[in-house]
Amino acid sequence: MNYQLILEEIEKEIQPELSKGKVADYIPALASVDGNQFAMTITLKDGTQYSVGNYLEQFSIQSISKVLAFSLAIDIYSKTLYKRVGVEPSGSPFNSLVQLEYENGIPRNPFINAGAIVVADALMSHFGGEYASLEKIMNFTREISANKDIKFDSLVAKSEMEHASRNLSLAYLMKSFGNLDNSVELVVKNYFKQCAITMNTQDLSRAMLYLAFKGKDPISNKEFLSEPQAKRVNALMLTCGHYDASGEFAFHVGLPAKSGVGGGIIAVVPNIMSIAVWSPRLNKYGNSHAGTLALEKFTTKTGLSIF
Ligand code: GLN
Repeated sequence: MNYQLILEEIEKEIQPELSKGKVADYIPALASVDGNQFAMTITLKDGTQYSVGNYLEQFSIQSISKVLAFSLAIDIYSKTLYKRVGVEPSGSPFNSLVQLEYENGIPRNPFINAGAIVVADALMSHFGGEYASLEKIMNFTREISANKDIKFDSLVAKSEMEHASRNLSLAYLMKSFGNLDNSVELVVKNYFKQCAITMNTQDLSRAMLYLAFKGKDPISNKEFLSEPQAKRVNALMLTCGHYDASGEFAFHVGLPAKSGVGGGIIAVVPNIMSIAVWSPRLNKYGNSHAGTLALEKFTTKTGLSIF
């Protein structure tokens, strides 16, 4: 298959869609990003990459970081983590409070904000504080992407902390049910820092190879997750990776994937490749509008979906 040609076709076809949707502006530091950008990269088992568009442009990975943090946490806590965070789709927006109250402060899954905040709390407890925990997440991200220069943008994290009422509410509610061990402010702050990691589609696509290949990076041969753990992370991406649009995403694209409000989406084609796409304008669910369409075009053109 001529992947480069297919990506170029997609880039051309997607142009009329790039002006549709809205850049996330509830985090002021993200509101100034040029919304009409597009990038897509695929990475094969041997590390070969094919890219189109602004693939060197760094962007805020936001909720894609939930996959990284959960991968670390699942490796540490195994099944005990599921007592604090579930594995069911929520059918609600990513920052919704409604289920948390009547489900006793146990978030539905680790990919909605409440779940990711619990994961951030668990990692802080395990690694002995916010600095050590953030360092582990950063090092993990650098290792899986084979890029030691990856950083987080402290301005984006600070900007989000200044507009954090909703996430603080989620965290306080969980604290009231005894599902948060550390200080609410510190956990939310660390969660924002992890969300503020900046990467481009080349880094992100490379980073996801471990999930495309059963937990083991096929280039470095490092095992980041066991095979059953990788199965679980991929299953959660398929069922919960796009919040209340996860069903729609599976219906149209048919791949385990995770989005972020920075406009990025990562997806894996098991045993074949990992994909990263980026376009900052979001649909009403907070997922990249053009990014979602580009992935749909990719699986339709190549036949590479899990179904
Ligand atoms: N940092 C963002 C938030 O907590 C992440 C949300 C997202 O990417 N869906 O609201």
